[in-house]
Amino acid sequence: MTLKESLWDPVAGFGVTFRTMFRKVVTEQYPFEKQPTAPRFHGRHQLNRWPDGLEKCIGCELCAWACPADAIYVEGASNSPDERFSPGERYGRVYQINYLRCILCGLCIEACPTRALTMTNEYELADDNRADLIYEKSDLLAPLLPGMEQPPHAMRLSDDEGDYYRGTYANPQFAADFAARRAEGAGASE
Ligand code: SF4
Ligand code: SF4
Repeated sequence: MTLKESLWDPVAGFGVTFRTMFRKVVTEQYPFEKQPTAPRFHGRHQLNRWPDGLEKCIGCELCAWACPADAIYVEGASNSPDERFSPGERYGRVYQINYLRCILCGLCIEACPTRALTMTNEYELADDNRADLIYEKSDLLAPLLPGMEQPPHAMRLSDDEGDYYRGTYANPQFAADFAARRAEGAGASE
């Protein structure tokens, strides 16, 4: 054994250890201390609402067709004058996302024509059984903000669903009141 092998190599072998000992610790104490994600982090999905509480989802299934992992299941149904869940003809009667399959790629939210589907920053999606990782519509729907009504109910912002999609509400006072509530810190639905 040479002098280098007997004296220097053992010291060199601990080189990384010695260098790291004096650096700032970067270990995160998750789950006791949770770090905020990047603002555009792809987390759990959310089904959004219009300012009057109606659902933005029209049950078109475009998100399901766009999904490369076959993680979304949608069944649309027709609104009726007595039971309306969204503006226009159709709404999503059944909406499921299977988080055992989802790779959080975001292609589904790109496909959605009404911005009904967006993604939150929520990333704690682990569970101890398979059934609870299939999220139902009730798990994904955005909460009702102050002033919103739980569907089914009539269209409050306009009689024309096109006004909803264009943001040109025939009832501008409702929209203004809603914007004011948001500004007061009620939170955003999308
Ligand atoms: S994020 Fe990607 S994998 Fe997940 S449901 Fe949407 S399209 Fe499918
Ligand atoms: S979330 Fe969007 S794309 Fe998916 S069914 Fe509803 S409206 Fe269509």
